[in-house]
Amino acid sequence: MSLKYSVGDLTIHRIIEQEAPFIPALDFIPGLTPEVLTENRAWMREAKALDDQDVLILCFQSYVVKTPHHTILIDSCIGNDKPRPQRPAWNMKTDDTYARALNAAGVSVGDIDFVMCTHLHVDHVGWNTRLENGRWVPTFPKARYVFAKQEYDHWFAENAKAEIPPFADSVLPVVEARRHELVGNDHQIGDHVRIVPTPGHTPGHIAVAMGRGKDDAVFSGDLMHSPLQTLYPELSIKFDVDPAKAATTRRSFLERYCDTDTLCCTAHFPSPSVGKIKRKGNAFVCAAV
Ligand SMILES: [Zn+2]
Repeated sequence: MSLKYSVGDLTIHRIIEQEAPFIPALDFIPGLTPEVLTENRAWMREAKALDDQDVLILCFQSYVVKTPHHTILIDSCIGNDKPRPQRPAWNMKTDDTYARALNAAGVSVGDIDFVMCTHLHVDHVGWNTRLENGRWVPTFPKARYVFAKQEYDHWFAENAKAEIPPFADSVLPVVEARRHELVGNDHQIGDHVRIVPTPGHTPGHIAVAMGRGKDDAVFSGDLMHSPLQTLYPELSIKFDVDPAKAATTRRSFLERYCDTDTLCCTAHFPSPSVGKIKRKGNAFVCAAV
C-alpha cells in the first residue's frame, strides 16, 4: 500500500488511523437507489469501497506534507480518550495506531509547523488535542492550528446552543492555548499553501491546495466520501449540512481538477485514497497513480 507520494517539491505521507466498514451505502447516501448500487457493486467491491453487506468502507487518515519550508498536517483524524458513544470504534479508544503511523513516516509531533482542518467534524479534529493530567492540551506543541473563520464561527454558534463534544474537547482547548489562527479563504502559507473554498458538507468547509505556483496536490477533505460520488457527483451524504450545495461544490471541484496533473488526496476513499481526477462520460473517476 502506498503511504508516501512525491510531487513537485512536496513529500506527502498518509497517516492512517482506521480503515473499516462504516455505514450501509443506502443509509449513508440517501439519494442512492438500490438499482444504482447494484450497477456499481462489482467495481466497488473490487476497489474495497464496499463490503459483502453493502456497507461502505472508509479510510480515516491525516496527511503530513513537507514543503521546502514547513511540515503541515492536514486533518487530525479521530484521536484517543474522547467520549464518542455513538461510534464504538472511536469511543474512548487508547490504541497507538496513529502514533505508530506518524513514527513510520519519520514524523514526530514536534515537527508539525501547521495543523490545518478542512472542517471541524469529529473525525478531522481528534488529534488536535490529547489528554494530559485530565486536561486537553494541543498534541502538536509547536504547531499553529489553522481554522477557516467561517467554519469556526458556525460551530462556535452551534456549540453555544448545545455542547458539541468534538468542538469542546478538540478545538476550544487549542483556542484557549492560543495556538489557533482563524483565516479567510484568501489565506496562504508561504508560496506553497492555498485554500479552496468548498462549502456544502459544512458551511465553511475548505480544501487545501499545495505546490509552488501550481496545484501539485489538493486535499479534498469531506467534499466527497466514496469513489461512487466521483461517478455520481449529485449524490450527497446524509451528513452534508447543505446537500444541494455539496453536490454543486463536488462537481465544480472535480471539473476544476479533471485531467490535470494535480494529485487528489481524499480524506475517506479506501486505500490508496490518492489519485488523479479523470473524465468518465458526464462524470469522473479518481484514478490511482
Ligand atoms: Zn470526515
